[in-house]
Amino acid sequence: MRTGSNSRDLKVMNRLLVRDVIRRLGPIARFEIAKETGLTPSTVTVIASELLEAGIIKEVGHGESSGGRRPILLELNPMAANVFAVRLQRGELVTAIFDLAQNILAEDEQSLDTALPDDVVKAIRVSFDSLVEKTGVDPEAILWAGVASPGLVSSHRGVVERSSNLDWVKVPLSAMISQAIGGIPVQVENISNAAALAEKEYGLGRGRKHLVFINLSVGIGAGIISDGEISGGVRGYAGEVGHVTLLADNGPLCACGNRGCLEAICGTRAVLTKVCQTVPGSVFAEHGIDADRLAVKDLLLPPLKGLPEVQRVVEETGQAIGILVANLVNLLNPEMIILGGELAALGDGLLERVRGEVKHRTLKELGQTVEIQTSTMRGSAALMGAYALALERVFALESWNGRGASSRPSYAAALQEGGI
Ligand SMILES: [Zn+2]
Repeated sequence: MRTGSNSRDLKVMNRLLVRDVIRRLGPIARFEIAKETGLTPSTVTVIASELLEAGIIKEVGHGESSGGRRPILLELNPMAANVFAVRLQRGELVTAIFDLAQNILAEDEQSLDTALPDDVVKAIRVSFDSLVEKTGVDPEAILWAGVASPGLVSSHRGVVERSSNLDWVKVPLSAMISQAIGGIPVQVENISNAAALAEKEYGLGRGRKHLVFINLSVGIGAGIISDGEISGGVRGYAGEVGHVTLLADNGPLCACGNRGCLEAICGTRAVLTKVCQTVPGSVFAEHGIDADRLAVKDLLLPPLKGLPEVQRVVEETGQAIGILVANLVNLLNPEMIILGGELAALGDGLLERVRGEVKHRTLKELGQTVEIQTSTMRGSAALMGAYALALERVFALESWNGRGASSRPSYAAALQEGGI
């Protein structure tokens, strides 16, 4: 999250602007970049020189002359470096090595039977080593790592302040992972924020400046993009929509300790429990389904698919999520709301109900202009977000000269700050 506006931040933002134009329109001449970004030609020349020197863009021949000399064209150099991306959830770890043109060179998925920070970091290390071996990428060429983690994440300090999902308090995740993977600097961000960033950069939200991504999973969270940037509030924790109260009295108990939170009513666990309670036990017995191991994807297959009890649960879930979405539309006036996570896979039945609630519960000036969609990136949105975070740091040129000499806190400092 970029909050300041000092000259260093401005420089980084301008570099990212130039990167975006080269990525979108390259091969492109310097004067055209200036036109597209609104930056002065001399600023573009300075930034282009820095990016050329770093090797992450290259000169590729000449463009058409408009009278004078033919201009030299610039484009990205995707093979110049790599980034490592991590998506962490309770019970599951997905990692990948990317090039600079968003291609996944290799991906690794593993289940985690522990959520202890040391064990999780060890598992990340093992994945990293195996991906390096698989791809043959030089670890020195991996300039940044991006991590999408559940919980309240202080991204500038690299600390997961609290995650009820992982049962973590003040875990200095950036520093721990960095130490485990040879000092590569690590940018950590909340998983819903990372997914929102991915949707804005590569998904349905491309070109949108005001969008909300809602991760509908065991936990429910939102990543809010406002004016093109992640909007995190004072400490970066904004978007904890799973803990918005939906039932004032006698609601179900939530992992956060309160009652009646949205997450306790329509998080994955709550939805599956409701299905088990309402579908006759004989259906499970007849088809050999273990109710304790029921997953959202089972609701999409026979015999559960189409059962009136299941349809009712989907309807109720859609209503609850629809109320949340309507509230967000009234509150934030976004251009687009994207539903992602496991429950988004419930498909059109859920989506239509959500759209219906929004139509019904928003002021028409806000409700009529918002587009509500299901993510087409599904599980990979947060991983792509982790990649996007790392890529931003690469183009910010904060680590190029002297790995580890970046602005990330040292392991010792983070430990101390984290109070562990
Ligand atoms: Zn709660």
